[in-house]
Amino acid sequence: GRLGCGRATPYDAEMAALARGLKEVLRDLPATVNDVHVFADNQAALTSILAAGSGPAQMLSVAACATIRPWLQQSSMHRLHMHWVPGHRGVYWNGVVDKDAGRAAAEPSEEVSFALARQQVTAQTYTAWRADMAKPGYKGRSNMLHHSQFDRCKHTAANWFLKRAGRDSTYFARLVRFTSGHFPHGAFRERFEFEGNRRCWCGGCAVESRDHIWFDCELWIRKHRPPDEEIERRRRGDHRRNALDLDWRESPVNIDDVAEFLQLNPAAATFQWLELVDRAYADRDEGTGETVNTFKADMHTKVRKRAYERWTQAHPTR
Ligand SMILES: [Zn+2]
Repeated sequence: GRLGCGRATPYDAEMAALARGLKEVLRDLPATVNDVHVFADNQAALTSILAAGSGPAQMLSVAACATIRPWLQQSSMHRLHMHWVPGHRGVYWNGVVDKDAGRAAAEPSEEVSFALARQQVTAQTYTAWRADMAKPGYKGRSNMLHHSQFDRCKHTAANWFLKRAGRDSTYFARLVRFTSGHFPHGAFRERFEFEGNRRCWCGGCAVESRDHIWFDCELWIRKHRPPDEEIERRRRGDHRRNALDLDWRESPVNIDDVAEFLQLNPAAATFQWLELVDRAYADRDEGTGETVNTFKADMHTKVRKRAYERWTQAHPTR
């Protein structure tokens, strides 16, 4: 029969067939039969037909459970076996049913099942997302945003960001902000004319840029080696020029290195760090000498980095 929900997915149909099949089998089952075997090629339907939780086609799994429960309770010998079979090509009646289903699907219907609606919403959202990512204005020109991981629009674990940081919202936010350049730092304040200090705590740069942090700054623990041209730039002392001239460089960036960098340096690219540097510079500019703020700023950077380098020297294989 037709599904009561209008247009549906193969999953809906499998669920309906399983629920209906169980009902038909148990209707006049001889008392001597103890084992019932169910065969289907849709793994998702097989696993959810007796798991009556919330989800697509939940009404059908509730119906299947209601059908099978009294029979299972009749005797402890009664067993239900679920089998997955890899398709059914070449089966005559399958071809007949397929043709029938095709004709029914061609009939116009205003209504769709929950599973089909969800599938369509996901497809539409992906189309819009991919179209956005193809626009240079949307994507931006940051050297990190040109990484192929940004083109792989996915809302599952296949998404690099979700896989790396999906379980930690703070880390996730830092990762996205840093790679897109929208994190609290001097150049960001400069660009949007926000209040506050623009200098990097290393003292080597008047406007702290993302590329300064990534390629030049000596404050942070850095396992990645900057490209030769960046090292050459540093040797010439170019990195001491106005950092904004040197932002958004062409040098490629490995975003796995970015993920590791942010974990090695928990203060980097955070609001707390920027505010601490504001206070530390205010103290220093007033000539108050070493204060708790300048001490903290050093602890987050120079002191950590020295400890890290000592440790890696003592454990060269790690
Ligand atoms: Zn710096």
